[in-house]
Order: sequence, then structure tokens, then C-alpha cells
Amino acid sequence: MESDKIILTSKARCRDCYRCLRACPVKAIKMKGGQAYVEESRCVLCGTCVRECPQKAKSIRSDTERAAGYIKDGFYTAVSLAPSFAAIYSDWRLKRIVSALRRLGFNYIAETAIGAQITAELTAALCGERNKTLIASACPAVVNYIEKYRQEMIPALAGVVSPMIAHAKAIIAKLSKEKKREEYKIIFIGPCAAKKKEAEREEFAGFIDAAITFDELDEWLERENINLNECEESDFDEISPNRARLFPLEGGLIKTAALETDMLDSEILAISGFDEIENALEVLNSNSGLDSKIKIIEPLFCVKGCINGPGAVLTEKSGIFGRKNSIIEYYGSGAARKNKIKVSPADFKASYRHFKIEDPLDISEEDIKSVLEKTGKLNIEDELNCGACGYNSCRDKAVAVIRGMAELEMCMPYMRKMAERRTDRIIETSPNGIIILDEKLHIISMNGAFKKMFMCSEVVIGKRISYIIDPANFEKLSTRGGAKIETIEKYPSYNLICHEILYALSDEKQYVGIFVDITNLEINQKRLDEIKSKTVCQASELLEHQINMAQQMAKFLGEYTARGEELVKNLMKVSEPDNPPADRNIYKK
Ligand code: SF4
Ligand code: SF4
Repeated sequence: MESDKIILTSKARCRDCYRCLRACPVKAIKMKGGQAYVEESRCVLCGTCVRECPQKAKSIRSDTERAAGYIKDGFYTAVSLAPSFAAIYSDWRLKRIVSALRRLGFNYIAETAIGAQITAELTAALCGERNKTLIASACPAVVNYIEKYRQEMIPALAGVVSPMIAHAKAIIAKLSKEKKREEYKIIFIGPCAAKKKEAEREEFAGFIDAAITFDELDEWLERENINLNECEESDFDEISPNRARLFPLEGGLIKTAALETDMLDSEILAISGFDEIENALEVLNSNSGLDSKIKIIEPLFCVKGCINGPGAVLTEKSGIFGRKNSIIEYYGSGAARKNKIKVSPADFKASYRHFKIEDPLDISEEDIKSVLEKTGKLNIEDELNCGACGYNSCRDKAVAVIRGMAELEMCMPYMRKMAERRTDRIIETSPNGIIILDEKLHIISMNGAFKKMFMCSEVVIGKRISYIIDPANFEKLSTRGGAKIETIEKYPSYNLICHEILYALSDEKQYVGIFVDITNLEINQKRLDEIKSKTVCQASELLEHQINMAQQMAKFLGEYTARGEELVKNLMKVSEPDNPPADRNIYKK
């Protein structure tokens, strides 16, 4: 895991499936060595890849340790709780989440809705002033996208800080009456990955000290054994303006600012999700006439708004509509209340930058062609544009290869073709005969070794296997089923003895036969057996001969011993004075 990035990749979990790349709206995923990394300079922090990865290989950096550290170190801590909290901690949990936060050690807890009201009112005021379309700038992922990819739209951005920054400013204004800024920390809690980066922007330094997601908060509560069931109800330290509670919904800013919309109102456009944003920006760029009619666009990067943010993964059965309903109920439950904070627009101004993405500047047609050719795309018909690699077209993928964002091997059809070719080559060059039959045991194909072994040619293709060999084993396989048949068969008419392995390809309804020629082995075995039996005969003869020899030797030795005894006795007699030896030649046999 990389530690200073906001979207992290677990190498162990990444399975090289390109799903995150397919889902990433700006193709900020770099494939290297079969791993999908997030290229920070291109990433807009929408968190789509986190939601999409089926292996949970992508995650949002956790900042709970930093927040917990502030509490542990004795800082006074203030929480800005995003208005989407009412969708995540709905019903009975609404008021208990406040006391759960107090149990964690936070001192002051208020809703970001206070800042949302400021952002909405300032944006609405600008809307009346400008005679060009205004793009609301509350969603940091949208701001990231425009700063990196649609820089021509920067002048259209409202230039008003987001609710998170507006609320931080309001908290600072309140707390500064009794505390110095270095004595307290402000922690934002919400559903958003992009807010983490927004909090770290140079121009907003000193406002937000840590930004954590609802998912991080849940893990933290679990670690501390704080169960919402056991928490008492508690109120926020400040009451929020109730209209701003709608802010996390599509069109929430417009509602909060009381710029009412209806489907027929072409001056106001509340949109969510990348496709709608792209479409709206195209319209603004098109000089189609519509561009001059639209007064304000309120874009949210997450489809259906912040209630679908990547830091609050959908788990409830009620889904996104249940969440929307919870927000509307929460909005309805509060008394109408307006923002009481005096606002000077200059204090809530946002500025934007042109981000430069490093790319090889000149990518020529020749460069693209050369990459396409390397993956077998020699003609336009070869460019399948299937999207399996994650790119919308083969050319887009070729450009990504040149930029170092993609690898040649990511082209699935090409890799499949290569694999098929390799398989064909292996089959064709196999020393064993291989034959493939259809479900009626007609020959579909066979390799060179089979043709040689059974003395046939392509002419037999389409004919039944019985045309060449006894079909009994294949018939057994097709009628009785079973995984495979392994047997040794003799084919005298082909002078062949084969070790055969026959099996079925169930999905394809085909049968495969592999024939290993063991004729020579069998002949050699026969010879070996003959030699063995001859050797055994000779060994028996030799043994018999040896036994005879041994018997004769024994007999001789027996006689020799008896004669020895006799001589010793004679010697003893010789040594007695009155008994001269009977036979003086003691060595005579
Ligand atoms: S966070 Fe969004 S932009 Fe960044 S890599 Fe993931 S999907 Fe792409
Ligand atoms: S829609 Fe909301 S949660 Fe999603 S990126 Fe924008 S601000 Fe964050």
C-alpha cells in the first residue's frame, strides 16, 4: 500500500481485471506489471474505482489515526458532520450518532449544512450577477475534473468555497472568541474522498485538520466498542438551517438557495454523474444557443449526489432511494431556519489552478499505427473497439500505451488469438496423434502425428471415426459418459500398439482422442522378456553345475579329512617306541 496517496491499491488483492480502468471516467489507472495503480496527477478522486473493484483492492486512505491523535494529545476538537449523515445514520440513529461522536472524545459537533447554506446563498447571488452560465463549485471532484481536463471551463466556475470550507470558516469565527487557532482542530466527516484533497489544498491550509469518511468513522466506532444501540440521544452544538439539509441530493444547492427548479426550467440544470457532467459541458462549449439560456449548472460527480459518495458504501436494503427519503424526512423534521452568520463574499472566495498532466506532446499517427500493429491490428477491421482493456477504442488504448499508462498485453482478443495459435502449434507439433470428433463421432480435425499413425489425410474429415478405427471406445464414452477412458489398444492393420486417452469436451459436445504410439516399447518389452527367460535357463544350468561341483568338492574334502585323521593316528603310533608305524610314507595318499 502507498501511504501518502488518497486512493490506495492493495497489490495482493489486485487481480488484473481492468474493471477499475473501465469504470474510471478519466482513465487515471495505470497498468504496470499486471497491477492497476492510480496515477495521482490524472485522478479526480471521484472514488468510482473504490466502489467498483470486486476484490476490494482499491480503498480510501484512512485518517482516523490522525483525528484520534488530536483527541489523545488534548486538543479541543470540533466536528463538521456532512448533511448526508442523515442518510447513513437514519431513523433512531440520527441523534445517537452525535453522542457516539462525543464518546469518541470530540468536544463540539455541528452540521456542515451551516456551511452549505453560506455556499448556496453566495452561489445564487452570483447567478443573478453574471450573464454567463455559472457552474456551482461545491463538489471538489467536479472542480478537480475541470482543473485537470476542462480548463476552458475554469472561468465558469462559481468561485465560492465548498460547504466544508465555509463551515470551517464559521467554526473558526465562533471558536476564535475563546481559543487560539493552534489550540483546536477541525475534523470533517462525510462520504467523500475528494474532500481529503480539498482539505490539503494550499489555499485552504489551516481550515480542516483531518477529513474522514463515514466508513472510516464506522470502523473507528467498532474499534472503540461504541455501539449506537447503547448511545443516548444528543443534540448538535448548533442547529443547522433546515433547507441546507437537502444539500447532498441532486439539485440540493439549488433547493438550499431557494432557486426552485422544475423539469421545464431550462435555465437551471441540476445534474449528477460523469456522463451528465460531460454532456452539460459539451453543451456549454457548443454555441448551440442552449449555452446562453442556462444560468446555472449544479454538478455533483456521484450519481444521485453525495448520498452515493464513495466513503459511505451502500449497504442498506433500501438503497439510494431509501437514502434520499431519509434526507427528505430529516429536512421535514426541522423547523424552517435561516442562516444567521453574517457573510462577506470576499471571505468565501475560491481560486482555481490549471493542472498540467505530463504527456508526450507529439503522438503521431505513425506511433499509433505502430502500437496497433504490435497487437495484430493491421487494418481498420482488426480494431474491434470491444472495450475489454478498459479503453473505449483500440486507438485510445494505443495512445495510452505510448503514454505509459497501458500495456500491450491488455488486448484480450489479441492475447486470445495468440493463445489459440500457441495451442494449435502445440497440437500440430505433438508427437502423439490427436483427433477431435463431434457429438456424432464425425472427425472434425486431427494433427499430423495422427495422420501418420493411421495412414490417412484430410480427406477423412467429416467421416465417422469407424472409417479409420474401431469406434467402440469413443461410443462407450459418448453413451455412458464419464470423465475419460484410458486403455491400450492394438491396431494390427496399422502395425500399431497405442496407449489411448479419450475424453469429452462437454460444453463443446466434442470428443478428443490422444494416441501415444507404444509399438516399439511393446516390441522391446517382448525382446526383453525373451532375453530374460533365456537368461533364467542359463542361470539354472549354471546353478546346477555349481551344485554338482560343490557336492564333488565336499565329497573330496570329506575323503581328504578322513585320510588326514588316519595319518595323524599313524604318526602318534610312530612316536610310541614299541609300536613302529605301519606305513612310513605319511604323505602318500
Ligand atoms: S478515484 Fe476516480 S478518477 Fe481516480 S482513479 Fe479512481 S475512478 Fe479514476
Ligand atoms: S458528489 Fe459529493 S461525495 Fe461525490 S465527489 Fe462530489 S462532493 Fe464528494
